[in-house]
Amino acid sequence: MTQEARPIVTRFAPSPTGYLHIGGARTALFNWLLARGGHAPEGSKFLLRIEDTDRARHNEAAVEAILDGLKWLGLDWDGEPISQHSRADRHAAVAEEMLATGQAFKCWLAGDELDKARQEARENNVRFTSPYRDGSEGEGPYSIRLKAPIDGETVVQDAVQGEVRFPNATSDDVVILRSDGTPTYMLAVVVDDHDMGVTHVVRGDDHLNNTPKQQQIYEALGWNVPVFAHIPLIHGADGKKLSKRHGALGVEAYRDEGYLPEGLMNGLLRLGWAHGDDELISKAKALEWFGLDGIGRAPARLDPEKLAATNAHYVQGLGDEDFVAAITPHLDKAPSAEQAAALGRAAPFLKYRMKLLTDAQAAAGFVLLERPFEVTGKAAKPLKKEGALGVLTTVRERLMEQDEWTAEALDATLQAYAEEREMGFGQVGPPLRAALTAGKPSPSIGETLFSLGKDESLARLAEAEARLNT
Ligand code: GLU
Repeated sequence: MTQEARPIVTRFAPSPTGYLHIGGARTALFNWLLARGGHAPEGSKFLLRIEDTDRARHNEAAVEAILDGLKWLGLDWDGEPISQHSRADRHAAVAEEMLATGQAFKCWLAGDELDKARQEARENNVRFTSPYRDGSEGEGPYSIRLKAPIDGETVVQDAVQGEVRFPNATSDDVVILRSDGTPTYMLAVVVDDHDMGVTHVVRGDDHLNNTPKQQQIYEALGWNVPVFAHIPLIHGADGKKLSKRHGALGVEAYRDEGYLPEGLMNGLLRLGWAHGDDELISKAKALEWFGLDGIGRAPARLDPEKLAATNAHYVQGLGDEDFVAAITPHLDKAPSAEQAAALGRAAPFLKYRMKLLTDAQAAAGFVLLERPFEVTGKAAKPLKKEGALGVLTTVRERLMEQDEWTAEALDATLQAYAEEREMGFGQVGPPLRAALTAGKPSPSIGETLFSLGKDESLARLAEAEARLNT
């Protein structure tokens, strides 16, 4: 008989303090892959919990920004997002239950008195222990503290960091419920993860130091401790912890900069997770391959150049129509129907000149020129050479007869033309290119003519001729 594997339940638990930053997006991705990937048993889930307990700083727009960022990346979650704040009664009830079972105690230390007691413990290099731990009673509002073990160690088995030992003597009895009745993060996160059935907690290693306290709460409640996996934080290319100094950090900034969701996803995946030497890993492959064993222990470095180069691969993989749709919002002006058709024809050539969708305006500038346009400066040089006007006229006349409007056929026509006239291609190409593109970056002449289409190409040549004639 085969044993049925237990479903994996992961969660992403952002605090809505701003947009979805790149580190959060990576955490979400790893959790999503773990629950959605090929290794996940039937019934596995990826849940979303908004840690909105800080009401003073709460901001609904930040919640929306996080949801938008996840949706844009394609990280879909199961069920409705859970609001941590809405579960405050449940958190308080658990704290009361822990009081009743003796796993927690009431503490009346507060304000200056508390600060003083903590400072004294620090100065004497001893564990800070509340005088109320022994059950003595105080007066007025009290907080509730976990009655944590004093001796021995709390040993966290981390799927990334390995076994991490925390001496209990250096850790105090964490407050689980404040004197105003609100839960602390330490309690809320444990109760929520337990109630949501979370089996794997994958998060940034800035939370590693919180883990022994959370584990103590699980143990006090007799609950199963989930698998913990603490991922090293992301560093900038300079090796320092990633911060605003390193440039755009919100997922929406990457979207606006011209990243494709799959391109950014691939880049995020490679920040801390590896599969051999593979750099280009599609969403499908990521789902097939992802596992916690591929997460490294060293901080990943965010290299903007490498990230853009990864994105380029996904730009090149777009179908022509999808490519036009993807670049359109990034152009200075919405293209006309004719221009959109020309962009579709140019797509195979443009894709290879771009890393980000925002490169489209420069790459496709020759397509987007609107007649009449002038060819000026250095770009006009080939038109000023002797014989340029003749080339424009005779080539235009020949192209009028051209039925097969493909890059290859057009190149062949121009080649034949140059040979007949005993001209080097250097005399034919440059004036044509100047007239067709005004010196903007462009592919080969055949590809340029093909992209522009017959009518537009002939019109551009005729206009250049007319200008040379006056
Ligand atoms: N809300 C925490 C944060 O945004 C995450 C808590 C957790 O993953 O346990 O850093």
